Amino acid sequence: MSIVQTIRGPIDSSELGRVLSHEHFTNGMGGMEHVVGLLDREAMITRCVNALERAKAVGIDGILDVTPNDLGRQVWLFEAVAERTTSNVIAATGVYRWVPPYFFGWDADEIAAYFIREIEDGIEGSNVHAAIIKLAWDIEYQLNDPAIRLTPRAMLERTARAAARASKATGVPITCHTRAIDELGTPLLDIFDDEGLDLRAVTIGHSNDTQDLDYLRGLLRRGATVGLDRFGNGDAEYIAQRSGVALGLIQSGFAGQVSLGHDASPAGLWGRWIEDDAVAEAAWTRVSNLEVPWLLANGATEADIDSMLRGSIRATFEAAAAMAGK
Ligand SMILES: [Zn+2]
Repeated sequence: MSIVQTIRGPIDSSELGRVLSHEHFTNGMGGMEHVVGLLDREAMITRCVNALERAKAVGIDGILDVTPNDLGRQVWLFEAVAERTTSNVIAATGVYRWVPPYFFGWDADEIAAYFIREIEDGIEGSNVHAAIIKLAWDIEYQLNDPAIRLTPRAMLERTARAAARASKATGVPITCHTRAIDELGTPLLDIFDDEGLDLRAVTIGHSNDTQDLDYLRGLLRRGATVGLDRFGNGDAEYIAQRSGVALGLIQSGFAGQVSLGHDASPAGLWGRWIEDDAVAEAAWTRVSNLEVPWLLANGATEADIDSMLRGSIRATFEAAAAMAGK
């Protein structure tokens, strides 16, 4: 057991319940709250509260909100929702895909110190403590030139070392957005290994964007958790393909190292505001309503489902805490 900070305060890891591994209250970009006319704060609060309620009605006790500052994290939104929900919501520190220039002047230890402040002191002077570190490696990783010091890849690698050091110091886990078809989980785990991190504290996310089970089993054998955390609206073929990745890993014996989610935002501003409140508020129900029934109909057991929704995420928190002696 270990202590996990939620937006409503600390709980024991045994109280997390069934948790979605990769979601966002909102997303967009750091500073978006300064764009006049962009945010409808009351609508955002209502949608997040209602989305948590709808998820709870289909057996989901909480979410990991993996939105660092530069992806548009809104602390006021956490504070407002915390007063109106009983769900477990975990907030994140970290950095998104395009490492912002304000990190360029910091070395890995100085970036780690920023992550540690958000974990230990709270986010932006609030009582909301970050309890997971988010990294996002995507197509920007391909931009590299040894002759240039501050390439996107160089900064991604620097922030990954910072995340490892902050995780070891504070005992909170790391979750990674990755471009699965480029197998970016592998170089991430290599850096974490080099930093002496226990890979059981790491989730390699967006892993159901590939059907390459050999790649995913390679990550799992190193101890990492694989996040099958993109589940949108789709036809029967889409549901079978996405859920089939989970089934393949269950059949390989890895249910305890697989987590599930949608990568969805009821109040997101990354691209477009969903006009229909009911559609937005159903953002976090598809795993329960579409994927789990498919899995059970195709050979998975209730124990497998519980491992993926409850056991795997709890294990990443406990592995991270153990690393820091907590
Ligand atoms: Zn995401």
